[in-house]
Amino acid sequence: MEFSSKLLENAVYEMSQLPGIGKRTALRLVLHLLKQPEERTNLLSEAITKLRSEVNFCKSCHNISDTEVCEICANPKRDETIVCVVEDIRDVMAIENTSQFNGLYHVLGGKISPMEGVGPQDLNIVSLIQRVKEKEVKELIFALSSTMEGDTTNFYIYRQLEGLNVTTSTIARGISVGDELEYADEVTLGRSILNRVPFENSIKAS
Ligand SMILES: [Zn+2]
Repeated sequence: MEFSSKLLENAVYEMSQLPGIGKRTALRLVLHLLKQPEERTNLLSEAITKLRSEVNFCKSCHNISDTEVCEICANPKRDETIVCVVEDIRDVMAIENTSQFNGLYHVLGGKISPMEGVGPQDLNIVSLIQRVKEKEVKELIFALSSTMEGDTTNFYIYRQLEGLNVTTSTIARGISVGDELEYADEVTLGRSILNRVPFENSIKAS
């Protein structure tokens, strides 16, 4: 791609670093921004800069939050004895949308994936085990996607819980294998949380 301007080339390059954005799309977006009033572009860059510099993660569940403890963890109406273990913040949003879950969350920040060099130490697992030990957690619900990495992560955590007084369950596998939680429709996802099964059963089944 030949550019008539170095400024344009730089902007397109940076935009094309985003996932799913090729050079052509990047060019289209950049040209679109140029057509907008300058204020629009400023608001966008400000929002990104502010997000980056001020972003905060809940000290209990690791959800993105503007406060030290997120709104979900701070809500006294939520059942703190049930903790749903999810991969990332999009899963929290998806499950919240179902209105079928009144417990708390624990955001791992990914899945164990030797292929991508992600080990247990790269995820929020230690703090999860700590939570189970120190708080009144009676049940952990594994809600990771049904991929090999998801299963590996579930099993790793399950092993870490040995000897602790907590039951484990996994969301019903009505969600087809390989689908991410965020793509499941609300009704299906809500139902799969209500119809969760003991984690031991899912090990025997596989
Ligand atoms: Zn929280």
